[in-house]
Amino acid sequence: MTPTYTLHDGSTLPAIGFGTYPLRGREGVEAIASAIRIGYRLVDTAVNYQNETEVGEALRRAGVPRDELRVTSKIPGRDHAYDKAIASTKDSLKRLGLDYLDLHLIHWPNPSVDLYVEAWQALVDLQEQGLVKAIGVSNFTEAHLRRIIEATGVTPVVNQIEMHPLFPQERMRAVHAELGIRTEAWSPLGKRQAQYDAPAVREPADRLGVSPGQVILRWHHQLGSIPIPKSADPGRQAENLSIFDIELTDAEVAAITALGRPDGRLFGGDPDTHEEM
Ligand code: NAP
Repeated sequence: MTPTYTLHDGSTLPAIGFGTYPLRGREGVEAIASAIRIGYRLVDTAVNYQNETEVGEALRRAGVPRDELRVTSKIPGRDHAYDKAIASTKDSLKRLGLDYLDLHLIHWPNPSVDLYVEAWQALVDLQEQGLVKAIGVSNFTEAHLRRIIEATGVTPVVNQIEMHPLFPQERMRAVHAELGIRTEAWSPLGKRQAQYDAPAVREPADRLGVSPGQVILRWHHQLGSIPIPKSADPGRQAENLSIFDIELTDAEVAAITALGRPDGRLFGGDPDTHEEM
């Protein structure tokens, strides 16, 4: 059974979600619908994944009651200006075939454009209008977070950031804890750089009789982050969801965190310099 977190605005999110990039087309619909049938209730998409239509189709096909689902999308960098952010959100709803998003994020801060405060104000207003139930950000640094909070008085419920054993985000997790923000972890397994063969991962996997992927996802859970692993394979989808009846020791958690490296980002996605429109 997947535990649930209550966020600072009273809304709730399951402790694990399903990442949908780069699932597209008929196979994408099947993979996403499979994940929902298997038990994922938090589904992560974005305008820039170009699969909101497929996600909407998968949601309808899986047939789970709407109020049990938590659908997340993200505003792209090219739509940060206030009116564009509003229009972008309405377009996302149309493609998804939904009346509201459960969680909507600013995808990247794009500081050189410097319009993320406008995008945040748009999210605050969209929430008041009921088109978006909860609002958050992605790839925000401490400075970006403090700026939007100061400008609007509204704190994001989550910051979805790159986090995996090679980049455990100790500093940002401390910032989130101070501000009352829940960490969501993208590329939670570490994608192509997944540390499945590292002794710090392999040993607890052997001890517990689970896969290295489950150990890494359990590490996220014990650190309080919400991982959103992607898998096109129903077997691995189910495996990744089965992390709530195993327990790592504190020493095992610390050993996985110790795999972290200052240059551990997967593709140099430093939010101060990486731009995505
Ligand atoms: P990931 O979930 O860490 O890794 C996905 C890869 O791991 C896939 O190749 C998958 O292959 C494989 N895999 C899944 N479960 C496995 C297991 N138990 N054992 C071995 N391999 C396994 O990385 P990601 O897809 O980059 O990130 C997840 C989600 O985060 C994305 O789908 C997206 O929703 C989100 N994201 C957000 C941002 C952002 O800027 N906010 C950036 C990147 C990603 P199979 O499909 O063959 O199982």
